[in-house]
Amino acid sequence: MSRTLGYAAQVANGKLEPWEFERREVRPNDIAIDIEFAGICHSDIHQVREEWGTAQFPMVPGHEIVGTVTAVGSDVTKFKVGDIAGIGCFVDSCGECEYCVAGNDHWCLDNSAYTYNGMERDGVTPTYGGYSKQIVVKADYALHIPANLDRAGAAPLLCAGVTTFSPLRHWNAGPGKKVAVMGLGGLGHMAVKIAVAMGADVTVMSHSESKRDDALGMGAHNFVVTSDKEALKKLANTFDIIINTVSADIELRRYIGTLRQWGSLVVVGAPSSPYSIDGGILMGRQLSLSGSNIGSIKETQEMLDFCGEHNIVSDIEIISAAKINEAYERVVNSDVRYRFVIDTATI
Ligand code: NAP
Ligand code: ZN
Repeated sequence: MSRTLGYAAQVANGKLEPWEFERREVRPNDIAIDIEFAGICHSDIHQVREEWGTAQFPMVPGHEIVGTVTAVGSDVTKFKVGDIAGIGCFVDSCGECEYCVAGNDHWCLDNSAYTYNGMERDGVTPTYGGYSKQIVVKADYALHIPANLDRAGAAPLLCAGVTTFSPLRHWNAGPGKKVAVMGLGGLGHMAVKIAVAMGADVTVMSHSESKRDDALGMGAHNFVVTSDKEALKKLANTFDIIINTVSADIELRRYIGTLRQWGSLVVVGAPSSPYSIDGGILMGRQLSLSGSNIGSIKETQEMLDFCGEHNIVSDIEIISAAKINEAYERVVNSDVRYRFVIDTATI
């Protein structure tokens, strides 16, 4: 065991404050990473505030992690000391269930280990995330960060990047496809950049008029303020894919009408209340309401390589650890342009 420093919430809804805790010794399959940057995902806030149900405390959030490998276990060939490595939302899975075998380890049927607010697969050891100076993980669950990408800007790719890349690819975003992105926050702005790079025609649906220029600057072809009912109506029967990244309770029926035949509205935003939806609205053009959760380790590496090829990183504001609580408030108020990233040297 080795001592490390992090920022933790000691209780539900508690402020994030400095905390010293243990990381395990490096096992034969493990690597140790000196964390440099950790993104703040809205999911961190939902969990600290128990908006998704009972959570585990003390909690060290953070699942958008980039740092330098400082030690490798005796069986590790994937990394060497000095490599730049990333960690996303999960750090273990069973490796044996139908989904793990098929390469969809993020859907593991048997107790996959989330990066924080979870347990290791032994079921008793809590996991602690990236708002900390060091982490020890199985090498197979760490990712290679393309050398041309800015390390701080690459951190949000580990969750926001793959969570939007995965459904965009699954629902075939590309040339000739019209994609709408609901909500221009951490996930939403990654969805825009990735969908544009895939060759799709991209519209942003935002409740913040002030984000128009940024959206167009990211390559979006169109921007609609969702309070403008007429503008939404004009988009009826338009989109093949809608990626809904909104973190708050909203009425989905207003958006579903903008789908064209066989289109799908993919939910990735995870507000605490259920959506209310009248099934009839899906029937007319064989529309789908669907969902998507992060991405597999394989897919996360594919997303990182894609971002490397297209020079895509997140638009970030780097903060010191002491500003985490303030940053949480700004995220909740949709006042993030477009991801806060903690410089963990300040912990
Ligand atoms: P974020 O940066 O806070 O972005 C959410 C965006 O939603 C805001 O920027 C805002 O965009 C819009 N929004 C917020 N409040 C709204 C309101 N009252 N009415 C309408 N729009 C509102 O959050 P994020 O980190 O991108 O995460 C987004 C959601 O995805 C969270 O619920 C998070 O937990 C979830 N998530 C899911 C997965 C998954 O695997 N499925 C992974 C990561 C995160 P505009 O200002 O442009 O309207
Ligand atoms: Zn996340």
